[in-house]
Amino acid sequence: ASVGTSIQEIDPSKLTVQKTTTPKDLLPPEELVFGRNFTDHMLSLEWTASQGWLAPRITPYQNLSLDPATCVFHYAFEAFEGMKAYKDKDGQVRLFRPDKNMQRMNKSAARIALPTFDGEAMIDLIGKFVKLDQRFIPQARGYSLYLRPTIIGTQRTLGVGPPASALLYVIASPVGPYYPTGFKAVSLEATDYAVRAWPGGVGDKKLGANYAPCIVPQMQAASRGFHQNLWLFGEEEYVTEVGTMNLFAAIKDRETGQKELLTAPLDGTILEGVTRDSILGLARERLEPQGWKISERKFTMQDIADAADEGRLMEVFGAGTAAVVSPVRKISWKGRLVECGLADNVEAGPIAQEMKDWMEAIQYGDIEHAWSHKV
Ligand code: PMP
Repeated sequence: ASVGTSIQEIDPSKLTVQKTTTPKDLLPPEELVFGRNFTDHMLSLEWTASQGWLAPRITPYQNLSLDPATCVFHYAFEAFEGMKAYKDKDGQVRLFRPDKNMQRMNKSAARIALPTFDGEAMIDLIGKFVKLDQRFIPQARGYSLYLRPTIIGTQRTLGVGPPASALLYVIASPVGPYYPTGFKAVSLEATDYAVRAWPGGVGDKKLGANYAPCIVPQMQAASRGFHQNLWLFGEEEYVTEVGTMNLFAAIKDRETGQKELLTAPLDGTILEGVTRDSILGLARERLEPQGWKISERKFTMQDIADAADEGRLMEVFGAGTAAVVSPVRKISWKGRLVECGLADNVEAGPIAQEMKDWMEAIQYGDIEHAWSHKV
C-alpha cells in the first residue's frame, strides 16, 4: 500500500462490534457542554504501510495506549474533522454532507504523509457507529451529535519521516444549541500581529498543528473584551476568516447599490468550510435570482471599514459547523471600532437568520435535500 493521494480500500463488511457492558447515563440536554461528554462507543481503523487498512472496529469508548516515542506526539502527525449527526422529527438520523468532510480529511491526511481512505466506506462505517449510539442525540431543534474523525501517525520512532502505521478513529459528543437563548452577535479583534495561514502553507488543511498556535492570540483578544480573532493576511490586510469559522459580509455597491454577499476565495489562506460552501450554494440558488451578487473574492479590512462608514455594510457573519452562522456586531481595527450594520437591539441580520433557517431545515430533514444523508 502506498501513501499520498491514492484512495486506499476499507472493507466495511469486516466491521466487528464490541458493545459496552456499562452504558453511560444520559445527561439532561440542557447540561451538555461542547466536547466534554462522549457516547458509549468509538470507531477505529488501523493502517500499516504493508497491509493497508485493517478490519474496522467499534468498541467501547476507551483510552489509547501509545508509546511515548509515537510520532504523533513529536511531529504533529494529526488531522481531524468536525461534522454533525442530527435526528429528524421521525427519529431518523442524518449526516450533513459527510462526503465533503471525508474529502477534506483525505486532503489533510495526504498533506502530512498519512494514508488516505475510501470516503464512501468511511461514511458507511460512521453511519453504523452513529446508529449504535443514537440514543445520545436529543430529538430537538438545535441538538446534534458532534463527530470527531481523527487520524494520527502511530509509528514508534523519533525519526522524521512518513509514518508506516496510522490510526483513524471517530468519537462522538452530544451537543446542544450554540445559541440556547437565540443569536448573540459577537465582537471581533482584527489580528495583524499573528498570521494563521499563508499561501503555500497548511492553514487550508484541518491539521491539529494549525489550532494550538491560535490560542494565545485568542486569549489576547479576549483580554481586551473581544470574542474572536478576525485573521487578516498581508500588507493589504485581506480579511480571511474568524476564529474557527469562515466569514461572510453583505455590502452594497458604492455606485450601483447592488447587494453583494462576499467571502474570501480558496487561495490557501482559509479552511475550505463545508458551511461556507453550503451558504454559497444556497445564496446562488436563492439570493442571486433576487438580484444579489454572490462573490468569492479577496477583500480588505479597509473595504469593510469604508462600507461601514458609507452606510453600505449590511451585515457580517461567521459560518461553521458549530454555530451554522454567528452574526458579528463590531470589529476592532487600528484603534477604531467598525460597526457591522446591526442596530443596538438586534442580534442578527436578515441574511444570517435566513441562512441559519435554510441550513437547519436541511440538516434536520424538514425538507428533503441531497445534502442530508440518512444513515
Ligand atoms: N475555518 C476554520 C479554521 C475551522 O476550523 C472551521 C471549522 N471546521 C471552519 C473554518 C468552518 O468549517 P466547517 O463549515 O466545515 O465547519
